[in-house]
Amino acid sequence: MTAQEQLDAVAADIIENQVCPELAASAIQLVPGEGSAKAAILLVGEAPGAAEDREGRPFIGASGKFLQEMLESIGLTREDVFITNIVKYRPPKNRDPKPDEIETFKPYLQQQINIIKPKIIITLGRHAMNVFLPGAKIGELHGQLQDIEDQPYLPLYHPAAALYNGGMRVTLKEDFARIPDILENL
Ligand code: URA
Repeated sequence: MTAQEQLDAVAADIIENQVCPELAASAIQLVPGEGSAKAAILLVGEAPGAAEDREGRPFIGASGKFLQEMLESIGLTREDVFITNIVKYRPPKNRDPKPDEIETFKPYLQQQINIIKPKIIITLGRHAMNVFLPGAKIGELHGQLQDIEDQPYLPLYHPAAALYNGGMRVTLKEDFARIPDILENL
């Protein structure tokens, strides 16, 4: 199986295993993630919103446009990276994902990581960060490379939070601008 076929199989398993049936029932569809199955950079967000739920694609709404802008600012396109979320169905009214939902989806996220084998995992927002760095504070760790069991992580602020907060927006852009250097030194 190619890496893409393996990723497709993970998405099929989520449906087949009826992961988070309540979320699945209120959502339109699964948003498993997309991009290069061999990406050096894996971006992990929180959960799909309304636009993502409609299209079945991650980060295509307002925060997705901002994310795309930042990717382009460092010479990358969406196709160069892989983009997914810790929870792969839209929570009702965009509420925060619940701890048990995050736990339930974790093995599938881990499978995606094992298939893609990214050089770096970039977490967007505190929920995604805390999956890999439990108890960490985003205000303290954002933009700083973390190494856990030989897997490098870069925690960043969530683009949705930074979108309308000038200071955080500047910080997120600055953190993002450091990615090429960080990658080069891995
Ligand atoms: N916010 C997220 O965390 N993920 C998406 O896919 C879209 C918005």
